[in-house]
Amino acid sequence: MSTAPFTATVLGTPRIGPNRELKRATEKYWAGNFSRAELESVAAGLRRDTLTALKAAGLDSIPVNTFSYYDQMLDTTVLLGALPARVAGVADDLDRYFAAARGTQDIPPLEMTKWFDTNYHYIVPEIGPETTFTLNPAKVLAELAEAKELGVPARPVIIGPLTFLLLSKAVDGAEAPVSRLDELTDVYAELLGALADAGAQWVQIDEPVLVTDISDDAPALAEKVYNRLGALTKRPSIFVATYFGDPGAGLPALARTPIEAIGVDLVYGPNTAVASVPELASKTLVAGVVDGRNIWRTDLQAALAKLAALMGPAGSVAVSTSCSTLHVPYSLDPEIGLDDALRSWLAFGAEKVAEVATLARALRDGRDAVADEIAASNAAVASRKSDPRLNNAALRTQIAGIRAAGSQRGSAEVRRAAQEQRLHLPALPTTTIGSFPQTVDIRKARAALVAGQIDEAEYTKRMQDEIAAVIKLQEELGLDVLVHGEPERNDMVQYFAEQLDGFFATRNGWVQSYGSRCVRPPVLFGDVTRPTPMTVDWATYAQSLTDKPVKGMLTGPVTILAWSFVRDDQPLADTAYQVALAIREETVDLESAGIAVIQVDEPALRELLPLRDADKPAYLDWAVGSFVLSTSGVADSTQIHTHLCYSEFGEVIGAIADLDADVTSIEAARSHMEVLDDLNAIGFSNSVGPGVYDIHSPRVPSAKEMTASLREAVAAVPAERLWVNPDCGLKTRKTDEVTESLRNMVLAAQAVREERA
Ligand code: GLN
Ligand code: ZN
Repeated sequence: MSTAPFTATVLGTPRIGPNRELKRATEKYWAGNFSRAELESVAAGLRRDTLTALKAAGLDSIPVNTFSYYDQMLDTTVLLGALPARVAGVADDLDRYFAAARGTQDIPPLEMTKWFDTNYHYIVPEIGPETTFTLNPAKVLAELAEAKELGVPARPVIIGPLTFLLLSKAVDGAEAPVSRLDELTDVYAELLGALADAGAQWVQIDEPVLVTDISDDAPALAEKVYNRLGALTKRPSIFVATYFGDPGAGLPALARTPIEAIGVDLVYGPNTAVASVPELASKTLVAGVVDGRNIWRTDLQAALAKLAALMGPAGSVAVSTSCSTLHVPYSLDPEIGLDDALRSWLAFGAEKVAEVATLARALRDGRDAVADEIAASNAAVASRKSDPRLNNAALRTQIAGIRAAGSQRGSAEVRRAAQEQRLHLPALPTTTIGSFPQTVDIRKARAALVAGQIDEAEYTKRMQDEIAAVIKLQEELGLDVLVHGEPERNDMVQYFAEQLDGFFATRNGWVQSYGSRCVRPPVLFGDVTRPTPMTVDWATYAQSLTDKPVKGMLTGPVTILAWSFVRDDQPLADTAYQVALAIREETVDLESAGIAVIQVDEPALRELLPLRDADKPAYLDWAVGSFVLSTSGVADSTQIHTHLCYSEFGEVIGAIADLDADVTSIEAARSHMEVLDDLNAIGFSNSVGPGVYDIHSPRVPSAKEMTASLREAVAAVPAERLWVNPDCGLKTRKTDEVTESLRNMVLAAQAVREERA
């Protein structure tokens, strides 16, 4: 291929719209309030704006086909003609696509799971014995044509065959999807021909699976695939992108094939051994030196040094983001309420594009051509290094001291005895996971406070009314350990981020989580400290209304990190311990205020698990360590609960035991208590609350079915260690559903208690 190499690009961009236009349009379409043509016109406008902005910024190769109505893996499934048969009956192609993503009345959706170690979720392709692959390139060709019309040097982006198959799920007894690799490669060959016909100079094929240990064969398989695709006579130049880490053996494997360009993530794989791969001398190395998934401004001088080191080993070097900027907000411009120093440390999507362009200009025209940009970057680096908010020496000393002393709590038995004496709970105590329905009144009150229509006092009063109603309901239902219902929390991480020092909550920093769902992760920029108690007033108010114990509800350090943009200037572990100390202080204050049961949620424990096996033990060590630090400041008689949102523990099962919470509630309604067997198998001997009903569905489970699952549970775990609860928080449910479901749950617990008496 004789196409000229490019020099400046990004691997992908956000697509929900700077003001979530696509989210709104899609939801309107789903609700039947928007036609397909109206939705398509919003989408086309967003694509046009993105392309125009990337071109204006000076990129000389621009990704297309990175737009999606829902998810890029689902787009690839459609591209390969591999949607499951159960959606085939939906006549309209867009509705069929959404049916696969979200299900319909009669069609269950495909599964969704996390995209590598990001907070983005993809739709998992299903590969059954009947699945066939046929090329369906309409979307990518249309987006290519659209870009050409705008005069944009467009580069279609496709998820690679290896990544596609290794992230798919075998169904109906099919073999592992990767066994279909040869056949699928034929379809990609056909696609490359079609793209060449359509005038594409370059194609980007994403193979992030090469940075994981999902398959030991991945490098060899990649070599085979790209030898074949590279040997095609009619094709665009091929750029295979790896990202999210070091491709290890995947890099030399790709370099031995006839492809023209290889992308490496030098932010999350800083030790990628580029210099030891001689074959790179004939390739373009697309150097991901601008962090595509975190919001920090690039240290241009350091990035230029990295790039300079690549000039020798690589045939040519292109500057890029480390991955698609899908994972960061559109732009810093709409943000207000941050000081100049903090602002100078940040770069969102648009600012990252500018950084790429600046770095490419420096490579082309010399550093002097970008002297101003380098000076500004240096000033930001210096300001960040010296800012006192990032250098609280006393805090570090305090944490080191607590860690050195270790947990002072007694053994699990000693704690159990102390808690029994204090709490006097029946066997099979009933409780909930924390939140009660976020009602219209709650949302209205929050909006009114933000809009300045009501004052803090009025807001507090309205929240107290909610709490009182929830306490009354729980007493009527006969639950044993009550909750205040979390009405005051918009989000279980943001609520704490807003009250802790060291965090900045963005105004418009939306990031796609899945489909039309967006989240606004707070920015954890500094040393974390807790100026004042965060939950004590709500908890003590709730406790004042009842004689039953009320659980204090906190979010754990790992989850707070997982759902924030975290600082990159110190190890994650150090940040986790700082957050942990803040949570620990909160537990101590709750205890002093008379709260006897405290739950510290860690639903994200598994999410931060590193992609490479070798990195997992160190992660689990600090993840457990920070949880233990956050929960070990209280007396033996104070009961610590934790909650995890999943039941397939896999590699974290040992860590769950090491958390050593007195009570662990987990999702189990869907997995029929298998989870208890898994816990027994590792000798877990603390108390456990396997969810007895699935809150993810509006269905009200009968007392009879919950009695049956409790009987199963009692067979696996002695009743003295068993709790009865739903499988997650109730905030997304309606009050009526919750009332009926909990009534039945309490009846089920009573029935099983009586059977044992
Ligand atoms: N306590 C939280 C709630 O009930 C837990 C949510 C979660 O597990 N994600 O809403
Ligand atoms: Zn949960």
